[in-house]
Amino acid sequence: MMDQTVQRRLIEAVANAVVNHADELTTLDQAIGDGDHGLNMKRGALVILERVDELGAQPLPAALKAAGQMLVMKVGGASGPLYGTLLMTLGKELPAAPDRDDLVRALGAAVAAVKKIGRSDVGQKTMLDVLGPVYEELTLGGPAPFDRIRQRGAAAADATIPMKAIKGRASFLGERSIGHMDPGARSASLMIAAACTVMEE
Ligand code: ADP
Ligand code: MG
Repeated sequence: MMDQTVQRRLIEAVANAVVNHADELTTLDQAIGDGDHGLNMKRGALVILERVDELGAQPLPAALKAAGQMLVMKVGGASGPLYGTLLMTLGKELPAAPDRDDLVRALGAAVAAVKKIGRSDVGQKTMLDVLGPVYEELTLGGPAPFDRIRQRGAAAADATIPMKAIKGRASFLGERSIGHMDPGARSASLMIAAACTVMEE
């Protein structure tokens, strides 16, 4: 089973990263969306932090499923069901004590599930433009995966700036969505970075 202390620290680190960057996410969503991404994500993070005792003590798969359900129920917007699906699928696919191969397989399934629910794909200026590259980085193997994954996630979020949005609210802006980072790409890179930092230690 995954160490319960590590699991709790993972949950807290990811949720706190969202809370601490809520204003930044809101600013990004004000530029090309409706300005609620920071609030949506913060609401979800606070619900998860409220229940961190329970989530930290459950086996990893059950904790991920429960956290995903909380996001679907509490976050709203496009991002709630999408991140909720990501976590619920990870919970369904991961064993209690995952190794690297388990993580690769589960993340592949989770990214595929987000694509299916979102009817979306990599290249459309969404969270998938971080999730896809991060999955790809994880499949590469090699040493220091967490440092590389964190860097790949950040670079992938930056790479959404010149993209034109094809999905989500930002797509209503057409060409005017170019020149801004996608809010969901940024939240994905933030959460991945926070998780990597805990895993590295
Ligand atoms: P809403 O767009 O409903 O206001 P949020 O502001 O919370 O919801 O989330 C917006 C983010 O959700 C976008 O920046 C984008 O990354 C992501 N997103 C929106 N639609 C999709 C989709 N169909 N597939 C994948 N990601 C999407
Ligand atoms: Mg929004």
